[in-house]
This record gives sequence, C-alpha cells and structure tokens, in this order.
Amino acid sequence: MTADGPVAGNGHCADGSELDAAAWVLDALEPDDAVRFARHLPACRPCQHTVAELEPAGLLLLSASAATQPPLRLAVAAIAGVRKAAGRHAD
Ligand SMILES: [Zn+2]
Repeated sequence: MTADGPVAGNGHCADGSELDAAAWVLDALEPDDAVRFARHLPACRPCQHTVAELEPAGLLLLSASAATQPPLRLAVAAIAGVRKAAGRHAD
C-alpha cells in the first residue's frame, strides 16, 4: 500500500490527528485546531478514513444535540473509540 499522507507505517496518522478527526466530526475542535485539521485532512488518508467512519455517528450526535442536551458522554466515548482503534496509549 502506498501512502500519500503522513502515515506512521501502521496505517495510522503519523501526527496523531485521528483524535482531532473525531472532534472534527463532532464539530468540537477549537477554531485554530479546526483550521489546522482542515489543512491536514486532504493529505492524510488515515484521517480521511476516520472521518468517513465517524461521520454518520457524528451527524447523528449533532442532530440529537440540537434537540436535546449535548451528548458529551457519547462524544467522549467516540474519541475513546478512535484512540483505541488507533492503538495509541496515553503519553
Ligand atoms: Zn492524519
């Protein structure tokens, strides 16, 4: 497989932006981080994959949060799921 983005060699984003991908899907990034991730995303296949995987759930959460309380617990669970999927451990 040929990578065309910053890949760590295991199919995951080399700079750890997959966590940002989850926050991106949930529209939860700080403005500066959102700008950085928007620039990162087109060049990073792992992050594109993460966004594509989480987008349906993210849209569901966002539509639910528009009608009810923000499902922070679910957002945290989504981010934890990405962390687990990425095989990353807390530094
Ligand atoms: Zn990435």
